[in-house]
Amino acid sequence: TREWQLAARPVGWPKNEDFQLVERELPDLGPGEVRVRNTYISVDPYMRGRMNDVKSYTPPFQLNKAMEGGAVGTVVDSRSDDLAVGDTVLHFGGWRTLAQGPASDFHKVSKVPGVPESVFLHVLGMTGLTAYVGLLDIAEFREGDTVFVSGAAGAVGSIVGQIARLKGAKRVIGSAGSKEKVDLLTGKYGFDAAFNYKDGNVSKQLAQAAPEGIDVYFDNVGGEHLEAALNAFNEGGRAALCGMISMYNATEPESAPRNLFLAVGKRLTLRGYIVGDHYHRFDAFAAEVGEWLAKGDLLYDETVVEGIDQARDAFLDMLRGANVGKMLVRVG
Ligand code: NDP
Repeated sequence: TREWQLAARPVGWPKNEDFQLVERELPDLGPGEVRVRNTYISVDPYMRGRMNDVKSYTPPFQLNKAMEGGAVGTVVDSRSDDLAVGDTVLHFGGWRTLAQGPASDFHKVSKVPGVPESVFLHVLGMTGLTAYVGLLDIAEFREGDTVFVSGAAGAVGSIVGQIARLKGAKRVIGSAGSKEKVDLLTGKYGFDAAFNYKDGNVSKQLAQAAPEGIDVYFDNVGGEHLEAALNAFNEGGRAALCGMISMYNATEPESAPRNLFLAVGKRLTLRGYIVGDHYHRFDAFAAEVGEWLAKGDLLYDETVVEGIDQARDAFLDMLRGANVGKMLVRVG
C-alpha cells in the first residue's frame, strides 16, 4: 500500500515536509479480515486539529503512522463471511491506497444507481449529516427563519443553505471566498443573497444582505464571521457552532469576536456540537436528504483531485479554499 504519514507536527500552516508518502507491504489477511482498495478518500478541515499533539474529541495522528480519514472503496480480498469481494464499503482507513483490518471496521453501503459512491463521503455521509443535525437540531431551525451560513460553498455549508431553503426559510444568506462561489450560491444552490467575505468588512456586508437581521447562524468559520453574526442577530437568535476554520492554522488567538456581550441582551443561544454524537439521526437524515437528491431538489459539487500522490496538496488546497463543494481524492 502507499500511505501518507505525518512526519512532523505542523506549526501554523503545514509545510510539505510535515508529510511523507510511504510504500509498505501489507501482512497477509488474518481470519475475519478484509482488504479494500480505496476509490475515494476524503480530506477534511478537522484533520488539521489531529495534526497537533493536543487532547481533543479525536486523538492526534501518530507520527510516522498512516493518517486516518473517511474513505470509500471496494473489497478486493476477504476472509470474512460478512463482506465479499466486490462489496462497496465506507470506512476510516483513508490517506492510503489499500486498507485492511477486521470486517467490522468496514461498513457496506448500497450504491445508488446513477450516483457516484463518493457521495457517501459528503452529501449522504458525514458532512451531510453535519449540515442536517447542525441546522435542524442544534440551531433548532424553524420555518420562516432568516439563516446565515459561512463557508457556504463548501461541503457542509452548501448543504446547510439548501436544507434551510427546502425547509421554508424566509431568507438564506451565504458567504464565501470568491465571486465564482458567490455566483454558485445565488445561482445553482438558490440562496437569496451571498457575499465574498474578502471584499470588505463582514459585518457591513452581512447587514446589507440581511436588512431585517438573522435568526440562525451556521458557523463554519469563526472570528470576524461570528462577530458579524452576533451584530446581525435578532433577539432569540441561535447559532450552531460547527467549526471555526479561520483559526485552524493560527499561531495567535483570534481577536474576534469582540462583541460576545451582545449574546446577553439578545438572549442568544450559541451551541457547539460534534457530528459523531448524532449518528442516531442518520436514518432520518439519509431518508430525507436522499429523497431531495433523487428529485433534484438538492444539488452538490465535488472537487476531485486525481491520485494518492496529490492527497497532501488536496488537503492544503482545501484549507486555502480551492474546493467547491467536497474536496476528494480519487485513488488511481
Ligand atoms: P469545506 O468544504 O467548507 O472546505 C473548507 C472551506 O473553508 C474552504 O473551501 C474555504 O472556502 C473556507 N475557508 C478557509 N479558510 C477560511 C477563512 N480564513 N475564512 C473563511 N473561510 C475559510 O469544508 P467542510 O465543509 O468539510 O467543513 C466546513 C466546516 O465544518 C469546518 O469548519 C469544519 O471543521 C466543520 N465541521 C465540523 C463538524 C462537526 O462535527 N462539528 C463535522 C464536519 C465539519 P472559501 O473559498 O469560502 O474561503
